[in-house]
Amino acid sequence: MKSAQDLRKLLNEIHRKSYPAYKGTKGSYRFADYILQIDHVQGDPFASPSKVSVAIDGQLARFPKQLFDKKYKRIALQDYLTRVFYQKIERFNFKAKGSGKSGLLSVSRCGQEILERTACTIDPANGNVLVRMEVGFPANGRTINSGELIKIFFEFLPECVKESFFYPCADQKKIEQTIFLAEDQQVIREEILKRNLSAFVANGSILPRESGISSRPMKNGVPFRSPKEMEVEIELPHRGKITGMGIPCGITLIVGGGYHGKSTLLNALEVGVYNHIAGDGREYVISDDTAVKLRAEDGRSIKKTDISMFINNLPNKKNTEAFYTEDASGSTSQAANVVEAIEAGSRLFLIDEDTSATNFMIRDELMQRVVAREKEPITPFIDRVRELYEKEGVSSIIVAGSSGSYFHIADTIIQMEQYEPAEITAFAKQEAAAFPLPVSEGKREMKKPSVLRSAEKNRTFADRGKVKIKAMGKDGIQMNRETIELRYVEQIVDTEQTNVLGYLVKYAEQNLFDGKKTIQQVVDAMEQKMERDGLASIAESSYLPVNFAMPRKQEIFACLNRYRGLRL
Ligand code: ADP
Ligand code: MG
Repeated sequence: MKSAQDLRKLLNEIHRKSYPAYKGTKGSYRFADYILQIDHVQGDPFASPSKVSVAIDGQLARFPKQLFDKKYKRIALQDYLTRVFYQKIERFNFKAKGSGKSGLLSVSRCGQEILERTACTIDPANGNVLVRMEVGFPANGRTINSGELIKIFFEFLPECVKESFFYPCADQKKIEQTIFLAEDQQVIREEILKRNLSAFVANGSILPRESGISSRPMKNGVPFRSPKEMEVEIELPHRGKITGMGIPCGITLIVGGGYHGKSTLLNALEVGVYNHIAGDGREYVISDDTAVKLRAEDGRSIKKTDISMFINNLPNKKNTEAFYTEDASGSTSQAANVVEAIEAGSRLFLIDEDTSATNFMIRDELMQRVVAREKEPITPFIDRVRELYEKEGVSSIIVAGSSGSYFHIADTIIQMEQYEPAEITAFAKQEAAAFPLPVSEGKREMKKPSVLRSAEKNRTFADRGKVKIKAMGKDGIQMNRETIELRYVEQIVDTEQTNVLGYLVKYAEQNLFDGKKTIQQVVDAMEQKMERDGLASIAESSYLPVNFAMPRKQEIFACLNRYRGLRL
């Protein structure tokens, strides 16, 4: 392997040459404490920056094994190290000068959630650390200024790496707290399953966010306090005893006046599928990690989905057992979202009336009288929610501000008042008795949806030609000229997850779709590959995955199901 001195010599030689001479630096170089790998060199100073990685031997990094011997601990440690490194290199960002992106130094910017990322990975077998980053190779115009790159590689980077990835120099107390929190969170996750709960919200949690565009905690938010009747206690290995609201499996209704904090609670449960960092306010808000937020999504495409448990006898005689549309209505989109979430293995549905199609959720008595059953293709969710729990084991937590129909069928009813929950099940049931639900006449028996869907290759992407993938924030993916809309897949919390979803679609097209494997088998195969070969492996390229974050299985399904190029 070439040495650091070889790199310095090479850089000196290409000083003031034209930019493409940088291409010759691609390769690996042994520095004192790590190996620097230049994986990809940008074409000019304005192009997407060069991809560089730093590999540190486990013997030198010396993180004690017990900090990463379980997957969830390893992810927490990797996440922590990425955050530290981000702060270290931020000081040197653009300190090397030049045109365009010259001097840029960047690594993934982590948000409130703790995610598995390609930015920093620790090999569970030997503790080797790999850090992936971007560096803007400096130039003036298109003339190489390698003196500035020498500063980056020989001054800035060694200092940042040293301060971040060597346990003896690291803030060991902070690392310990990070791992302790991860262990406590893991215990809550295991406990809620054991105790048949859908979610846990600790007393003292701060649920509201700073603003609509910030996911940081609201300053002076009212701390959460569980109703006495729903309080549960969990013994955590580090924090000790913790109390909070345990939401039982079954059907839970959250009611209350406008602006009293209903949606804020539901949002916290939506992201409670992920662990949060200390100080977030929701670090002890843990929901069943298969939970899916369901909403209306007019205009989405639906491919061969069996929505017959909700929709039948459409006026155009369309088959709803294998339903196709390129432009779904509010109710058909929400019906498809439910069925696809079942296919994706969800055990908990989260629904906010505000973002639901009314005719999907309920049908009031007057409407039932005026428009006869046979004329209404929709069996509303309220007529299925009980069966979904009893036959499929899927619980629902529903926020309702205006319709009282769900009082009748809910197992648990919570009222939010001034951001404080009260348990009002008995009271609400008593009141509801005076307004009996209309008998749903001629209700159809619920049939388990058919999930035997298999995709053929789409030639546009399947032939190993170039596929340009671009994440549009969390809102979608551009793949060549194809767009996959993900704006309403609300549990995507990071652009880096969207990024991976794009590569997964490409991977499925090029390697898995064969007209035989079902969508479920395709998703399983991709998850197994990422588990076995690492998240980065899905890109099938050595340099691309500097900025990948792991999406959940549920979002992988959601993405494939919204992909208009899918050939079923
Ligand atoms: P709802 O869905 O009941 O109409 P929201 O959940 O949208 O109400 O909350 C309304 C407003 O109150 C939001 O601006 C939210 O940030 C704020 N809010 C919610 N919970 C709290 C809290 N615990 N403390 C302070 N403000 C809160
Ligand atoms: Mg609301």
